Amino acid sequence: DTVGISLAQVITKLIGLGVMATQNESIDRDVIEILADELSIEIEFISESDSNIEEIYNLDQEDPEDSLVERPPVVTVMGHVDHGKTSILDVIKKSHVTASEAGGITQHIGAYQVSANGKLITFLDTPGHEAFTAMRSRGASITDIAILVVAADDGVMPQTREAIHHAKAADVPIIVAINKIDREGANPDRVRQELTEEGLVCEDWGGDTIMVEVSAKTKEGIPELLDMVLLVAEVLELKANPDRLAIGTIVEARLDKGKGPMATILVQKGTLTSDSYIVSGTCYGHIRAMTDDKKKRLKTAGPATPVVVLGLDGVPNAGDTVYAVQDEKTAREIAARNIAHEREEKLASKNKVSLNNLFDKIKEGELKDLNLVVKADVKGTVEALTQSLLKLNDNEDVDEVQVNIIHSGTGGINESDINLASASNALVIGFNVRPNINAIELAKQEEVDVRTYRVIYDILNDVKNAISGMLTPEI
Ligand code: GDP
Repeated sequence: DTVGISLAQVITKLIGLGVMATQNESIDRDVIEILADELSIEIEFISESDSNIEEIYNLDQEDPEDSLVERPPVVTVMGHVDHGKTSILDVIKKSHVTASEAGGITQHIGAYQVSANGKLITFLDTPGHEAFTAMRSRGASITDIAILVVAADDGVMPQTREAIHHAKAADVPIIVAINKIDREGANPDRVRQELTEEGLVCEDWGGDTIMVEVSAKTKEGIPELLDMVLLVAEVLELKANPDRLAIGTIVEARLDKGKGPMATILVQKGTLTSDSYIVSGTCYGHIRAMTDDKKKRLKTAGPATPVVVLGLDGVPNAGDTVYAVQDEKTAREIAARNIAHEREEKLASKNKVSLNNLFDKIKEGELKDLNLVVKADVKGTVEALTQSLLKLNDNEDVDEVQVNIIHSGTGGINESDINLASASNALVIGFNVRPNINAIELAKQEEVDVRTYRVIYDILNDVKNAISGMLTPEI
C-alpha cells in the first residue's frame, strides 16, 4: 500500500509470473526483482544478515557524554617466555587484593582486579599474548595498556619483538617492566638500548616509553609499575557508562562437569546483574550465579569488572562479545540469528586476502595495504627478505598497494604468527621454514594464506605478480 499499489495488483502480477502466493507468503528475491520491474518501483534489499545484530537490536548504542564515568584500566602482561610474566602477575595478585577480598582463595578465571593507591586495575592473566591477538582478531579490543616484561639478564628476544608488534598493531600503549634486576647478570641499560632498536625509547633518553625496573622476586619496583599503569590510565581518560544494559567480552569459557558452561566475562560498558539475560555468539541464557575470582557472589558488576557466570546454554568463544538484553526471548532470537549467520559465513566466499585474490581486491579498491608476516630460518635471511619485499614499494608496477611487514622473525610459523596475520588481514610468508601442526589448523580455520618457499626470488616474483594480477594460479 505504501507504494500506491494494492495487494490484489501484486498478487495478480505474481500469478502472471506463474507464482502462486498469498499475502503472508514470502517470495524469492528474483521474483521480487521482476515484480518491482513490472510495477516500475524502486526497491532496495535490506538483507538481515547484512546488517549486523548490534544494529537490529540496538545493542551498542552510543552513550551520551554525560553518562560516562571513570573506569579502571584493563592491562595485559606480555613478553618472552621465562622473562617473568607469571611471577609479576602473581606478586601483584597477592599483594594488592582489594580490601573486601583479603583472605579469599583465588581461582584462575583469566582476569582479576587489584586495588592500588585506592584505585582499581584489571589484569588479564590469559597466558601470553596469544589471547590478546585472538581477541583482537575477533574485533574485541579489550586491553587498554600492555606491560611488556623484559628480563634484565636476557634482553630483547623473539617473543619480545612479537609482543611489541602485537601491541603496536592493536594501538595499545606499552609500559616496559625491566624484570629480574636482582639477578647478577642484570643489565637494564642494555635492555633499554635493545628496545631503542625496536622503536621503544625510554623517557630518560628523550623517548616517550615508560620503563620501570622491577624484580618479581624481591618485589622491588612493583608499586612503581602500578603507579605508572594508573598514570597512563589517567592520561587515556578511560570512561564508560555504567547505567545501561551490559556489554562485555568473553575472556575464558569452559564446560564444568557439575556446573555446566562457565564463562569469564569482562564487563566493558553498563552493569551486569546476577539475573541478567545474556547472549554471546550462538550461546544464550539467564545468569544463575555471578562470582568474582574469589568465588564471592556478586549482585552487580560494572565496567572493567571480570566475573564468572553460570547459566549459558553452551560454551561461548573467548574474545566474543557478550550482550545483556531485556528478556529471554531477545537473547534466544539473537543466538538463533547468530547460528544462521555462522552457517552463512561458512558458505560465503573467503574474505581474507590471499595471493590468489589479491589483485581482485586491489582492483575493487578493497585493499590498499598488503600486510605480510615474514618468517625465515636465519636472521640474515629475514633481513634480506624483508628489505627486498619493502623495495617492491619503489617498483612502479606495484604502486597500487603499499607493502607492509607487520612482523618478521626467525623460526617456524606458529599460532601466534597466524593470529597476528588473521587480525591484520596479512599473508604469511615462510622461507626455509614450515608451519607447525597447530599453525596449519589455525590458518585453515582463520583462512590465512600461508606460503612457504625455498628460493627468495620466487617469493618476490609471486608477490609482485599477485599485485599486478599476473600470478599463475596454484594448481
Ligand atoms: P613467564 O614465562 O614469563 O611467565 O616467566 P615466569 O614468571 O614463569 O618466570 C620464569 C622464571 O624466572 C621462574 O623460575 C621465576 O621464578 C624466575 N623469575 C621471575 N621473575 C624473577 C625475578 O625478578 N628475579 C629472579 N631472580 N627470578 C625471577
